[in-house]
Amino acid sequence: MLKISQIWKNILLETEAKTTTLAYDLYINTLEPIGIYHDRLILLAETRALKNIVNNNYKDVLRVSAKSVFPSILDVEVITEDELPHVGSVAQEVDIPVSNKYIAETEDKVTFVSQYTFENFVVGKSNDYAEAVARAVADNPSGKYNPVFLWGGVGLGKTHLMHAIGNSLQRNFPEKNIMYVTCEQFVNEFIESIADNKSNPNAMRNFRTKYRKLDVFMMDDVQFLANKEGAQEEIFNTFNELYLADKQIILSSDRPPKEINIAERLKTRFATGVIADIKPPDLETRIAILQKKCNSKGYNLTIKVLSLIAEKITNNIREMEGMLNRIISYSTLVGGDPNDMDIVADALRDYADASNDIITLDHIVKATCEYFNVKKDDLVGKKKSKEIVIPRQICIYLICDILGTSVPLVKIGEFFGGRDHTTIMHARDKISEECKTNDVTAAQVKDIRDKIYNR
Ligand code: ADP
Ligand code: MG
Repeated sequence: MLKISQIWKNILLETEAKTTTLAYDLYINTLEPIGIYHDRLILLAETRALKNIVNNNYKDVLRVSAKSVFPSILDVEVITEDELPHVGSVAQEVDIPVSNKYIAETEDKVTFVSQYTFENFVVGKSNDYAEAVARAVADNPSGKYNPVFLWGGVGLGKTHLMHAIGNSLQRNFPEKNIMYVTCEQFVNEFIESIADNKSNPNAMRNFRTKYRKLDVFMMDDVQFLANKEGAQEEIFNTFNELYLADKQIILSSDRPPKEINIAERLKTRFATGVIADIKPPDLETRIAILQKKCNSKGYNLTIKVLSLIAEKITNNIREMEGMLNRIISYSTLVGGDPNDMDIVADALRDYADASNDIITLDHIVKATCEYFNVKKDDLVGKKKSKEIVIPRQICIYLICDILGTSVPLVKIGEFFGGRDHTTIMHARDKISEECKTNDVTAAQVKDIRDKIYNR
């Protein structure tokens, strides 16, 4: 039996890959699943306007996505609250067949985004090794490469490659028991099972068996384990058990094992197999990726527009896609041609404004304080202890780096308790240098930056 929330979650995953981020966030992800009525999925829209937008634009994609995961769902119906009483009795839990593409593991059904395949992954110098390793593992799990550790910056394709492995394994080795989790999911489940264990003595055991009976275990974003000792211990044991039984393990992170703030023995384990990094792609590869995305989403954009995007955004493919989507949705909105350079310029001006709006000096200060666990008053105050000075300097560096000349150094000095602008410059330059020579500082700056951008 599958709960309606579970069903909807899987359909969302499928839909996300097929729609623009904007449409997904604005419309689709706000719908609430009500239940299944015969062969239909009933969704509730908050307003009549939203219902109309979805009905006019996104019904097909919803229907196709639903059907591709759950073949017995033939249609999708969007209703508003006032129509609720007219809907017959809907089922909120159903015994529903799942498409062969997906493993039906009752609650913990693994679904891989169908668009994240090797075919849709553009290979260049920056990622060819990682891609080759991923393909080798997909063709021959528990072979030469075990464990596999993929690492690279945000939005460079780690999750895409893991799903590509998953999609390929499910097709070629349907009998294998494959699991993909984000590290965060694993940690949350672990914490829940500890809590549940008081009332249900089997909770912990169930959790352990689930992970230790796998043939292939994939865990995304393992940097999330930093500072979580209990979960690290659990992973360590899971890892050992799977590894000794010659099961395939694939991990990803935004940094190499040695730079993750975890127990030494776990770092060593993570690094025993193959470590493959993904770097930001070069210009040609970025353009090729944009072309591929255009093909799969049915956009018709000239090389000129794609080059413009690829030149503006150099180290995050997800952001590049965001800009691409932005141009399409803006041109649709104003009824213009997305290849008209004036339209493109307008779309991107708004885009830049929107993203600049989000980050202010306060955001940066808040993120730094949270990260180092220091009070704002201390951060901007006079204390000279190391625990305060380093966060202060990093914060100043980030303000200068992110906000650029929009906030004059004198103003930053005033904010930091009336310090001289030369003090601000000194802090900025010191951290900037240190980022190049000191891994710890570089990692801290990166963490806070990610926090600021909400990644
Ligand atoms: P990460 O997990 O490293 O943060 P993702 O795997 O989520 O990054 O990738 C972000 C987006 O960029 C996804 O939409 C993905 O399909 C796309 N992408 C990344 N690398 C490539 C590539 N080489 N070819 C095609 N698309 C890519
Ligand atoms: Mg990812």
